[in-house]
Amino acid sequence: MTAKLEAYEGIVGAAVIRQLQHLGQKLEGTGVVHVNSTRQGGGVAEILGWMIPLMCGLGLNARWEVLNGAGEFFSITKAIHNGLQGFPVNISSTGWQIYQDANAVNFERLRPLLEDADVVVIHDPQPAPLLNLCSNRKGKWIWRGHIDISHPFHPTWKALKKFVVGYDASIFSMCQFALPLPHPQFLIAPSIDPLSDKNCDLGEGELEEARGRFGLDPYRPLVVQISRFDRFKDPVGVIEAYRLVRRVSPIQLVLAGGGAVDDPEGKAMLDEVLEAAAGDPDIHVLLLPPDDHRTINALQRLADIVIQKSTREGFGLTVTEGLWKGKPVIGGDVGGIRSQVVNYHTGFLVNTPEGAAHRIRFLLHHGELRNNMGVKAREYVRENFLLTRHLQEYLTLFHQLLSKRGEKMFYV
Ligand code: UDP
Repeated sequence: MTAKLEAYEGIVGAAVIRQLQHLGQKLEGTGVVHVNSTRQGGGVAEILGWMIPLMCGLGLNARWEVLNGAGEFFSITKAIHNGLQGFPVNISSTGWQIYQDANAVNFERLRPLLEDADVVVIHDPQPAPLLNLCSNRKGKWIWRGHIDISHPFHPTWKALKKFVVGYDASIFSMCQFALPLPHPQFLIAPSIDPLSDKNCDLGEGELEEARGRFGLDPYRPLVVQISRFDRFKDPVGVIEAYRLVRRVSPIQLVLAGGGAVDDPEGKAMLDEVLEAAAGDPDIHVLLLPPDDHRTINALQRLADIVIQKSTREGFGLTVTEGLWKGKPVIGGDVGGIRSQVVNYHTGFLVNTPEGAAHRIRFLLHHGELRNNMGVKAREYVRENFLLTRHLQEYLTLFHQLLSKRGEKMFYV
């Protein structure tokens, strides 16, 4: 559920809302189509869930379309995803053909919308070939990469590049992800919706209910990582860190994840996690429904420390969510986590399970510092990573791309 724009005034101030309304007037009636590969699960779906209603509320004609795909298509796109994040993968020419064919089938279904749209935003590699299929396009097309593409496996990037070069612009979450492409590239960081079920304030009763439901001990510190079960999120590394701390402190660990339609590797990773956690009643591995946002919210609020020990990360909305709840975050020293976690300020960046264990112990022993860091963490998100800033940057970019050549750029 997304609130109306005015509801955010108390959090970001009236001037920000006015600026957005002003931008909305400039873009009134603009047809925008976003395309990604899953309606639920993962950060992109989380963002599109609030962004479409708010764009419509501002006067744009925004839509969100999702690719249909069979298991084989998603196995290939997951391999492309892994390759772009630097993991050596072997994708056969048949695999690339299946990828293109699935996009061609989706294109026929979406053709009228895509041909007519003023702006099309294609999220991540899965729907990237749609552009080359749309020979009769009217609007501007933007490729929005959400993943950590700073060190791609070269053969994967080389093969994907031919689907991406023709876009009018691309957007990345970090300047380190910029690629050798012949069009303008923009830096727009993701954001969270502070009023959504995932991030709104929760009452004590709801927190206690969640604590009881999962058998968590109120008297022992709790460390929480919320993530899809994905190798790059390093859940097994989190268990290693927990075990190192556990030798000296009686902590509890929650690893909560869920599936995403476009992530067929989740089951194998979950099995690995369950094996690593076996026999320890204080490691709670939770497989939650993808729309159980209030439970995720409650677990992040019950945590003493939020952890996101990724080894690759485009941005890491789970980091933003933890920071917004006033928790210092221990995050992997990679990708978009670096723009959110500032050592000794909003949390700690780590590279190994040993490093994570060291920082968990440090935070557990410095309660006052932990609380102070939590206060700074929330303010850091308010200033940088709330949806209003994100919307403003998108709308400004749309306006710039749609402005006729020679016309002055519109500044807010
Ligand atoms: N998430 C969720 N349930 C889960 C696991 C994750 O709702 O079981 C949410 C999480 O709260 C966050 C998003 O999925 O909003 C994950 O976004 P992130 O950018 O951290 O990672 P991604 O999955 O996109 O790589």
